[in-house]
Amino acid sequence: MISRKNLYFFFKQTPEMQDIVTPLKNLAEVHGFHLVHSIKEANIVVSVGGDNAFLQALRKTGFREDCLYIGVNTDQLGFYTDFTINDQERMIQAMKNEELEVRRYPVLEVSVNNEKPIFCLNECSIRSNVIKTFVIDVVIDDFAFETFRGDGMIVSTPTGSTAYNKSVRGAVIDPTLPSMQVSELASLNNNQYRTLGSPFVLGPDRTLLLKVVQDGNDHPIIGADNEALSLRHAKNIRIKLADRQIKVLKLKTNSFWQKVQRNFL
Ligand code: NAP
Ligand code: MN
Repeated sequence: MISRKNLYFFFKQTPEMQDIVTPLKNLAEVHGFHLVHSIKEANIVVSVGGDNAFLQALRKTGFREDCLYIGVNTDQLGFYTDFTINDQERMIQAMKNEELEVRRYPVLEVSVNNEKPIFCLNECSIRSNVIKTFVIDVVIDDFAFETFRGDGMIVSTPTGSTAYNKSVRGAVIDPTLPSMQVSELASLNNNQYRTLGSPFVLGPDRTLLLKVVQDGNDHPIIGADNEALSLRHAKNIRIKLADRQIKVLKLKTNSFWQKVQRNFL
């Protein structure tokens, strides 16, 4: 199905994981794949672990749009892992027999204080790091939409909609809709402060600007998927859908909605 042959394995470097991954590496070599030791040479990246490992694999390999990503779970199937470590033969056969499809997932491009953008597959979150609320001006394109006061906000991708976003009653979004969902973390709503109060979804050409109102509580925690950005002063956070999408290898028989059903219903 694919002419890509250079495989890079991404996993937590522990003896236990080495033991788990070694048979998989051997099997791949037997089937004609080349194992490469640097991401630069790779055109397939195999993440072994859970969804968290998959998120890390993308971050550590730079969200490459010229790579195909494959998620292999060491436990049960997850949202980004279409294979488990126990169906290795099936995985190789599936690759050969075209029981697979490549899915393109939208990712967020986030730029803090106009610096070099970073990417997020699940979400970008911004949270107060002290017990007091903090204030954010929410600007859609150039339009000042609302002023938020509370714990923080989450901006999620469609595939991230089943993660943090779902815990705050955001909607689950079909990943075939390129969009980003904005949801609130404990907004204060009274006669002085008013926010929309419900999550909202922005289309692919919108830009969201979150301006942290500097009132002494100006060191929010900014999360990019499962990593906190080490930034002391975040003033402006600009978020849009990235031009790039990442390519993930999927089983045809494991659609997004099947995953949602399997995990939540
Ligand atoms: P974690 O706190 O260890 O686990 C969060 C859980 O979410 C894990 O079960 C993880 O699966 C799962 N998960 C990750 N991406 C998902 C997705 N797109 N859809 C459904 N479930 C998903 O952190 P982590 O494993 O490093 O994952 C980071 C993610 O955790 C963040 O991107 C954020 O979305 C989420 N998170 C959620 C909350 C909350 O719900 N209150 C708070 C903070 C962060 P695995 O076990 O396979 O890794
Ligand atoms: Mn986890």
